[in-house]
This record gives sequence, C-alpha cells and structure tokens, in this order.
Amino acid sequence: MTQTASEPTFSRQRNENPKSSAEREAILANPGFGDYFTDHTAVVDFKVDANGEGGWSNARIEPYGPIAMDPAAAVLHYGQEIFEGMKAYRHADGSVWTFRAEANAARLNASARRLALPELPPEVFLESLRELVAADQEWIPTGDGEALYLRPFMIATEAFLGVRPAREVSYRVIASPAGNYFGGELKPVSIWLTTTYARAGEGGTGEAKCGGNYAASLAAQMEAEAQGCKQVLFLDPFNDNAIEELGGMNIFFVFKDGRLVTPALNGHILHGITRSSVMQLAADRGLQVQERKITIDEWRDGVAAGEITEAFACGTAAVITPIGELKMADGVIASPGEGIGEVTAAIREQLLGIQTGVVEDLHGWLTRL
Ligand code: PMP
Repeated sequence: MTQTASEPTFSRQRNENPKSSAEREAILANPGFGDYFTDHTAVVDFKVDANGEGGWSNARIEPYGPIAMDPAAAVLHYGQEIFEGMKAYRHADGSVWTFRAEANAARLNASARRLALPELPPEVFLESLRELVAADQEWIPTGDGEALYLRPFMIATEAFLGVRPAREVSYRVIASPAGNYFGGELKPVSIWLTTTYARAGEGGTGEAKCGGNYAASLAAQMEAEAQGCKQVLFLDPFNDNAIEELGGMNIFFVFKDGRLVTPALNGHILHGITRSSVMQLAADRGLQVQERKITIDEWRDGVAAGEITEAFACGTAAVITPIGELKMADGVIASPGEGIGEVTAAIREQLLGIQTGVVEDLHGWLTRL
C-alpha cells in the first residue's frame, strides 16, 4: 500500500456543548484512570484511491463523541486496529510537554506495518497531539503523578467482509485526565503468574500495540483478579518459561550487586518507552543494565538468596510501580522488601521529575506541545 506524505493542517470545530467547568474541575480533582474524556478529538482519514494510491486527508479537531461506522467496518470483525499511549504534562510555568513522542510515532508505525495498516507521517502524529492538547488544555491535571493521558489509535473503517487490509482507515486521538493507574497512593502491586495463557508467540503480534493482544490478555487478567492480584505476568512457554512482561507493563529486577535486569526484546515483548528510558537512567547512575533471559526460577532463587532486592513494573500509565508478591499456582514469591525499594524510588523520582520539568532533561526527551 503506497501513501502520499501529505502534511495536513488541522481544521478546528469547537465543541459547543463542552462539560461545564464545575464538572471538569470535579473530574480533575480525582481523575482516576481512563474514566473521563475531554471535549475534543483529533481525526485524520486515510483512503486508497482507484489507482491504488493511499493518502491521508481531512485532518481535523472535532467535538468528542460517538463514531458513526458501518456495521461491516473491518475493525469490528477482524480487529485491524492499533494504538499508542502517552502523556502530556503541564510544567510549573504553564507550558505543556510530552515525553519521547517520536518513539511513540515510530512504534505506531511499526504496529501499523504488522497489522497491514498505513503508516502515519510522524509530523502528522505530533501535530494531532498538539492540536488536541491545545483544544483541551484546561483538562491537564497537575496533581502529583497526574497528567493528561493521550490515546492515539487507528482503525480499519472500510465496510468489506473479505479478509484483506482495509482501504479506508481512520486515525484518531482521544485524551483522558489520569492519576495513579492502580488507584490511590503508590504501593506495591501483587502479580499473578499465569501458566494457563500466553500473551504472544514467535511470529505473532506481541511486539505490536494492537487491540487483539489486550483482548487476549483479559482472561488471564480475570484469573489474576480472582486470585486477588492487580496484574498478570506472562511467560514464554516455548523458552523455559522465561519471563516476558505484564498485561500492560514491562518488568525489571534490581540485584544487590548493582545489576538491573529486564527480559530482552525477543520479537514478542512490547518495546516499552518507559523501559528504554529506565535503562538509560539506570546506566547513567552506574547500574549495570542487562537485557537478557530471566526465568521464574532465577527470580525465586534470587529473592531467597537475597540477591534480588527489588522488582518493579513500568509503563506510561503505571509509570514505575513496585511489585509486591508474585502469586502462582504452586506458591508465592514474597516481595524482597516492604514498600518501594531504594533503586525503584530513585529512578521513579528522576523519571517523573524529567517528565514534569523539575529534573533537567539531559537526554532531550521532552517535546513542547
Ligand atoms: N507492555 C505492554 C503489554 C504494554 O501495554 C505497555 C504500555 N504501553 C508497556 C509494556 C509499556 O510501554 P510504555 O512504557 O511505552 O508505555
């Protein structure tokens, strides 16, 4: 599928019925995660013409609301869909920034290639965020750990029941004020280890950020919740039960001797942008970062021997969250310590500091929106 690299300017249609300022203030006082949405949405259309040429057009900001779609739209039947997750942060001087947006743009396009969707020019991606945040800037919460979560996504809208890449696609962005992903104060989360379900496999879509991966994780997530756990950990059943990642986060282990270990990107783990940032910040602090295979046995033995002192999960939504205990069918790996570990806390504070503009951005990770 070819495409023309157009650079659409966004037309702007204001929402004539936005939420009242009282309603918005009430939401911002306690945003939670993913429950409330702003007044506008960004949209860009893609179509393949009669000559087989694809192109993006009609970039616009419009009022937030339901999407009118043909019941035969491909996304509703074959799940041809991808998405991204990122945040906009308001700094003390009132300016608004996003974190490593070019990495999200690149990952969206990597997902697009895997799901046979059209790539979106990165400058259109950035402009869509800029336009939406400009329209909804009153929606950015500024409490501790709070930000405006941005959800860019792409769906196959063509009405056609044959199985082939859709020739009509819609790219959209919605925004949602966000606080702590797990609710309330930061505290260690408990994890359930599933051995019933795998999240991904060799040659599959594990590395892509597509809706199907998350639909497929829900039965495992229900298993976790039935066990009183907040998240589920997936293994690679074809590779000695190597640890892969959580339902929506990557995982790290802190060793007493100064090593920081995370599962290597093996083609079916999501290339987390927080993961890559944590590795950089850890290396800057003199930790020895290792991307490699790590198994449940190494975790269990490492904790028992006092060699693994901390474990944490990371992602845009969860930032950095300490892992408490890991429950599994035949036992529990207890948390090595109480509360949040020293290394976890230091990296978390530094990362949040960069994002919120109170720690110098030495790596040039912030982009002004
Ligand atoms: N793994 C999975 C499965 C995820 O959904 C996410 C969230 N995007 C992550 C890891 C973390 O990625 P990031 O740091 O880019 O948010």
